Amino acid sequence: MRLADGTVVQGELLLGADGLKSVICQQINGNIPATYTGDAAWRITVPVERLPENFMEQVMMVWMGPGRHVVAYYLRAGALLNFVGLVETEEVSEESWTARFPWERFKADFAGWHVDVQTIIDAADQEGCYRWSLHYRPTIRNWITRRAALLGDAVHPTLPYLAQGACMAIEDGAVLTRALDQADSIVDALQLYQRNRVDRTVRIVNQSTANRTLFHLRTVDEIRASFANRDEGADRNAWLYSYNPLTVELV
Ligand SMILES: Cc1cc2nc3c(=O)[nH]c(=O)nc-3n(C[C@H](O)[C@H](O)[C@H](O)COP(=O)(O)OP(=O)(O)OC[C@H]3O[C@@H](n4cnc5c(N)ncnc54)[C@H](O)[C@@H]3O)c2cc1C
Repeated sequence: MRLADGTVVQGELLLGADGLKSVICQQINGNIPATYTGDAAWRITVPVERLPENFMEQVMMVWMGPGRHVVAYYLRAGALLNFVGLVETEEVSEESWTARFPWERFKADFAGWHVDVQTIIDAADQEGCYRWSLHYRPTIRNWITRRAALLGDAVHPTLPYLAQGACMAIEDGAVLTRALDQADSIVDALQLYQRNRVDRTVRIVNQSTANRTLFHLRTVDEIRASFANRDEGADRNAWLYSYNPLTVELV
């Protein structure tokens, strides 16, 4: 493989784990079109010392309102609160972890929301408010060549509406490792890997896309009606959270 600086490196297997703008995926599958969803994701993390004591239970919290929603959960064993606020906007910006936007706009986007949402936004580092423009991409079923494999966002970029993008990348890594151990050749291992990962990741990506509609209903009545007969926890436990990439049978 020739790198951008001209260096040539050789190996038995190339892993394309280069994220949603993957050049390796582009070489395997050509250009994958991206279409703006109409949504942007505000992202901040807040050290818990900046929040009132026992501010929020150690569970994932979701707030929903017309055309937008908020997800908050703790990271690093409760030391940091992660906050993602999804808003509909016609203003398309970058798909980037480092695109900063003014705190005042963040605050304005959630004006009138629940007091806990205000507390988190008020505790944010005002220079550290990030906004990511979310795009749809078609699902990809071709993950491998004889000597290369794709992994993570490089091959299954997803909307974050099921919070599974990084989880899928970790699962890919575990299954690929096992496939390389089990199969007699790299070619067989890559086929085993692809066979065992594509359907699950396509399902997750499609479910995440469907959740965009569910999470952005227009009225409280619509939201109530949609969730009245659903049990999100039970549904996800049945197929999503119960999957173990270290023990699932590879067929
Ligand atoms: C707003 C938002 C909220 C999210 N929330 C969650 C969540 O709650 N739970 C969850 O599981 N997931 C979540 N995700 C998704 C998660 O962040 C991604 O799925 C995950 O980061 C993908 O990991 P990756 O290693 O495949 O790609 P990346 O994290 O994108 O890493 C790719 C790496 O490759 C490097 N790279 C790229 N091109 C090259 C190159 N040519 N040469 C060398 N290096 C290169 C990049 O610099 C980067 O370090 C969220 C995403 C967004 C946008």
